Amino acid sequence: MAGDVVSVRLWLPQTEVVEVIVDAPGRLRVRVASSVSRPRCADCGARCGRVHDRREKRVRDLEVSGRPVTLVWDRRRMVCDGCGRRFLEDHPALEGRLTARLARRLVADAREMTVNTVARRHRVGWHTVMALVIAYGGLVGEHRRRRRCRRHQQPPPESCDAKPTASPTTPTSKPAASSPPNLTPPSPATQTPQKREGSTVR
Ligand SMILES: [Zn+2]
Repeated sequence: MAGDVVSVRLWLPQTEVVEVIVDAPGRLRVRVASSVSRPRCADCGARCGRVHDRREKRVRDLEVSGRPVTLVWDRRRMVCDGCGRRFLEDHPALEGRLTARLARRLVADAREMTVNTVARRHRVGWHTVMALVIAYGGLVGEHRRRRRCRRHQQPPPESCDAKPTASPTTPTSKPAASSPPNLTPPSPATQTPQKREGSTVR
């Protein structure tokens, strides 16, 4: 309960700072809430404003001024007026035990230093960092596999004799499959942008 602290700005989407609970030299603990006043019921889609109760959830976030930050999310359990179901509200930035941006930072740092160092530096568990690195590696592998498959299925358009093999059933353009979600740190330099392979089909 630090009375001398006025506010802290987190720059998290859909998040309101309720209060700074602990403002100590070595740590910062901040109570937050969702800024969505009427979350949507996952079952029937109705907007709900009736709060059944609240539960605290702790989520680690990026450091502020070198101090590790723990967010205490006052997570509401809502009662749906449409279907009567009770449900815990969701939040895009506070899903796991770490915020997505902290997870990204840990993975990015693990590219530069050992898992041990990253864990010590951010004061999180070694297993937490390792699990993120493995998950990220899986996502990148999956993303590359899909890209390879797409490349094999669709010959590059400019490589053929420019004869539009008109097949009215197949749509010409598909939306590009999404890049690995959530855990995408700054894109690695290994990604080859638009590899041009000359005229492969004759
Ligand atoms: Zn409902």
